[in-house]
Amino acid sequence: MKHLILVVEDQPINRELLCDWLETEGYEVTQAEDLASAFAALQSVQPDAVLLDIQLGVEDGAALATWIRQQAALRAMPVIAVTAHAMITERQRILEAGCNACISKPIDFRLLQDQLEGWLAISPTHDKAVETSSDARKPDGN
Ligand code: MN
Repeated sequence: MKHLILVVEDQPINRELLCDWLETEGYEVTQAEDLASAFAALQSVQPDAVLLDIQLGVEDGAALATWIRQQAALRAMPVIAVTAHAMITERQRILEAGCNACISKPIDFRLLQDQLEGWLAISPTHDKAVETSSDARKPDGN
C-alpha cells in the first residue's frame, strides 16, 4: 500500500515540485497551502507523514507540528520540516515544536528520501486507530 504524504507549503511552485517528486517516488500526496487547510486535511484524512514548510506566508508552520503532537490519533505521525533558515536556534525551535527532522531549502531530495523512508519505517501508523478514543479531548465546560 502506498504511503500518503501531506505536503504543507504556501508557494505553489514549491508545492508542485514536492508533490511531483513524491508521486514519482511512489507516494500518494495530499496538499495544503496554509495552516487552516492543513488542519482541515488532517480532519478528513490521516496521512502517514507530513512534509511541513515552516514559513507559510505570515503563518508559522511549527504551530501545526505542535498541534499534531497534542492529538492522540496523530502524535506518532512523522513530521519533516522544511526551512530556508539555516540557523541552529531556528532548527532547535522547529524540533522542539514537535517535528521529527528539519531539512534545509533548497531541498536535497536524496536526504529527504532518506528521512521519509527512515521515519515511515519506525512509525506505528497502523496501530493508531486503537488509541483514538482513549484520551479524546472534550470541549471545555463539559
Ligand atoms: Mn513558504
